[in-house]
Amino acid sequence: MALSITEACINCWACAGVCPNQAIHADDPVFVIEPEKCTECMAEFPEAQCAAICPVECAIVDELGAALNPPGSLTGIPPARLRALSEAV
Ligand code: SF4
Ligand code: SF4
Repeated sequence: MALSITEACINCWACAGVCPNQAIHADDPVFVIEPEKCTECMAEFPEAQCAAICPVECAIVDELGAALNPPGSLTGIPPARLRALSEAV
């Protein structure tokens, strides 16, 4: 099992320093998680440390592609409300 980083990543470096397995490194165009090193933090912490510190929704996903910080989880703005606001511009 391993998490991965999507193109939503803004290369902020926040996650790289908190990974207990040094599984995250900078790459082009976005940071990368080495799957062979990622344990999803299961042995070390109650939650994935990279996702806990990541400031961007949908930047870190599980093996099924589900975002650990889904839309609305960090901003508090419901996705439907955000869509309505963007359509109104
Ligand atoms: S889930 Fe844990 S082990 Fe995997 S990349 Fe994130 S911080 Fe590292
Ligand atoms: S914390 Fe999130 S946005 Fe920042 S480098 Fe890691 S995955 Fe990318």
